[in-house]
Amino acid sequence: PVRTRVAPSPTGDPHVGTAYIALINYCFAKKHGGEFLLRIEDTDQARSTPQSEKMILESLRWLGLSWDEGPDVGGPHGPYRQSERSAIYTAHCDQLLADGHAFKCYCTPEKLAASRAAQMAAKQPPKYDGACLSLTADDIAKLDSEGVSHVVRMKIPTTGTCIVQDTLRGEIAFEYAVVDMQVLMKSDGLPTYHLANVVDDHLMGITHVMRGEEWISSAPKHLLLYQYFGWEPPVLTHLPLLRNADKSKLSKRKNPTSILYYQRAGYLPQAMQNFLGLFIKSASEEDEKTSLQTLIDEFDVHNISLGGPVFDTSKLDWLNGRYLREELSVSEFLDAVKAWALNDSYLTPIAEMAQARITKMSDLGGLTAMFFMNRIDGMTVERLRDGVKLEQDAQRAAYTLGLQQFDNMIEWNREGIEATLRRTAEVLDAKLKDVIRPFYIAITGSAQGVPLFDAIAHLGRDIIRERLRHAME
Ligand code: ATP
Ligand code: GLU
Repeated sequence: PVRTRVAPSPTGDPHVGTAYIALINYCFAKKHGGEFLLRIEDTDQARSTPQSEKMILESLRWLGLSWDEGPDVGGPHGPYRQSERSAIYTAHCDQLLADGHAFKCYCTPEKLAASRAAQMAAKQPPKYDGACLSLTADDIAKLDSEGVSHVVRMKIPTTGTCIVQDTLRGEIAFEYAVVDMQVLMKSDGLPTYHLANVVDDHLMGITHVMRGEEWISSAPKHLLLYQYFGWEPPVLTHLPLLRNADKSKLSKRKNPTSILYYQRAGYLPQAMQNFLGLFIKSASEEDEKTSLQTLIDEFDVHNISLGGPVFDTSKLDWLNGRYLREELSVSEFLDAVKAWALNDSYLTPIAEMAQARITKMSDLGGLTAMFFMNRIDGMTVERLRDGVKLEQDAQRAAYTLGLQQFDNMIEWNREGIEATLRRTAEVLDAKLKDVIRPFYIAITGSAQGVPLFDAIAHLGRDIIRERLRHAME
């Protein structure tokens, strides 16, 4: 049976690209009466968080996807979280070492950096120089007894070509001479993506790997690993990445990329699902409104064009409007609005912010409207910014600095937001209140109102980024 998977790393907000890849894997499996799995690739311990995993699962479910096996639903091939599978990777790595397909590498970061610099200077692509390949068993025993830390690298043939067979691209040839001796096991005893991914895809019975094209260059390493283990490799399909309007890779600096943004901005999951589905439909189809079942029934991987699908949010707006008007009864519409923002969990913090600042309940509309909006009207922001003490250039610098730091905050909370704005004021050598002012205007669209740090925390990173970007346009 066909078995596909999506394998997100829980290192940030749930990415629309993950949803697009998941949808393709889901439709392909269902079209063939097969199974679709969800695996969490959290081997990067420093960057993975349980919150991110939770948001990814919730977002994919919100989009109407479900999986037959996964960390939350279980299944016969679990655990489905790589951090819980360490012993499996260690055993497989030991096997590669024993069979002579991998070797221990004791090179220090300094040594690696020096070798890389020399290669760059000689205009060669940087890769591991193979120094530790010549260590004898005695050398290794001595280094181990001294407790010198090591990684495990895979061996790569010195000559020959690897042919990667890709469903959409046909044969792609890679000279082994340019393939790096990939680290499989890090010095902390945890596997890299490459080892864990191959071992899991095999043990989980994955028949078709459909993933982003950024992984094409990893395919030769993966195919070699399948060969070393004596396993049948899955069918490989590398999918074109979503693009900004200018055809560059979709990035949050040009387009919101988090599914949470689209939720907060009030898009319907059906419209979002349909929108992502347009990338996998054949171009000739007349009506662009479609259902998940139709996507499954008509799925053909060759309909996916390699041209680079442009993530065109005006198309999403158009679709969403149609869903709102054509698909929902008034009571369903009301339910959708409640699920969006008229519920206790969204309203309670707003009530806390507003209560002390009104004299009658009818003041609420004006004071809190910005919690129910996406972008703030540009003319309003421009007009208010004219009256700000900080010069225009300094305002822009403040927005840029703020945006950068907001993007890097690991946890999104009031303390971090306050610290960000304080740091911004320090860098610009300005008073905190003068720096807060332009942020206040760009984010709330007014000169005064609810407490800013709390409002920023509640609106969330994505809406904030969108409003600040808009204010700088
Ligand atoms: P950004 O540039 O916006 O920060 P990113 O490339 O850093 O995005 P990651 O966090 O690396 O995003 O990726 C998260 C997931 O989304 C990965 O599984 C990745 O394959 C997928 N992804 C990222 N960008 C795209 C894209 N343009 N198209 C399809 N999938 C993508
Ligand atoms: N964890 C990888 C990612 O986040 C999975 C890539 C793959 O599908 O092999 O993109």
